[in-house]
Amino acid sequence: LAKENGRDRFEMFDIEKRKVEHSRRRQVQRIEYAVQDNEFVLYYQPKVNMRSGEVIGAEALVRWQHPEEGLLAPARFLPLVEGTAQAEAIDRWVIREALQQVAIFQQHGLDIPVSVNIDGGYLQSPNFVSDVQQALAAQPGVAPAMLELEILESTALTDLDTVTRVIKECQELGVAVSLDDFGTGYASLTYLKQLPSNTLKIDRSFIIDMPTDAESRSLVEGVINLAQAFGRKVIAEGVETDDHGLMLLRMGCEYGQGYGIQPPLPAEQFMEWVQHYDWPDAWRREANNVYW
Ligand code: C2E
Ligand code: MG
Ligand code: MG
Ligand code: MG
Repeated sequence: LAKENGRDRFEMFDIEKRKVEHSRRRQVQRIEYAVQDNEFVLYYQPKVNMRSGEVIGAEALVRWQHPEEGLLAPARFLPLVEGTAQAEAIDRWVIREALQQVAIFQQHGLDIPVSVNIDGGYLQSPNFVSDVQQALAAQPGVAPAMLELEILESTALTDLDTVTRVIKECQELGVAVSLDDFGTGYASLTYLKQLPSNTLKIDRSFIIDMPTDAESRSLVEGVINLAQAFGRKVIAEGVETDDHGLMLLRMGCEYGQGYGIQPPLPAEQFMEWVQHYDWPDAWRREANNVYW
């Protein structure tokens, strides 16, 4: 009897597994249709100079406008297609859409570079650099320097030489490259040394912990000093409060991005926001201090 029970359980497990696999495949297929039907939209989150109050750029963040389920965050669908042709198709669209948006910003008199996040598999695919080149060629009024690629550290893990070469080729086109979520990987320092990125984006987990955790503060200060020693720009993610910004300014990091400045917005609202942005008094006062 015990043996039979065991077998039943095993079969149940098997059926469950098959169900999960089936539903995953259906979801992936649904994403394929979403690419064809163009159901994605980009939201834009500002990056600011906390010392001058200037808006220095925007990060384009993809959302899926699902006809039944509403607006879906990338965490709801990107993990399902990471490293596949679907992720590639989404990011190819994102690059073109973002460049077109830069052109629209320019028509409105706004000079705002845009960064896009790139799937690791796509970055290493043989088409990547020529795709970027073609996307730039499709917007002749937009300088390549208006585009920045955000690359996760974990991307480099698979093939450091390829990633290094791709970064260099993109930089030769005039495109900027930043290492996203810096500090969360297993080999951050190796990547800092090997990958010729223009910018480090300090992961938001370190920023959010700064007010309560001395070690996070030391870590952030260390990354800022390292970035400067290596001649890289440094920007903090996850600036949720004025206090985060103030601490960063005192450590010598002037660039920030986060909900405390502004959560991501649709393009139209983003342009509105830029025209009315008024940076906090606390940052303004700090900027007047002599040590800058
Ligand atoms: P990321 O590149 O690190 O982007 C920052 C994420 O943190 C965004 O979430 C943003 O909304 C969120 N965020 C910004 N400020 C704050 C803050 O102050 N506090 C907190 N708690 N969160 C903040 P989102 O839009 O959900 O994107 C999540 C991730 O999905 C991104 O992380 C990026 O890795 C990936 N992703 C987004 N768009 C694309 C895309 O077009 N292509 C690819 N391959 N990945 C993308
Ligand atoms: Mg990013
Ligand atoms: Mg990030
Ligand atoms: Mg992140």
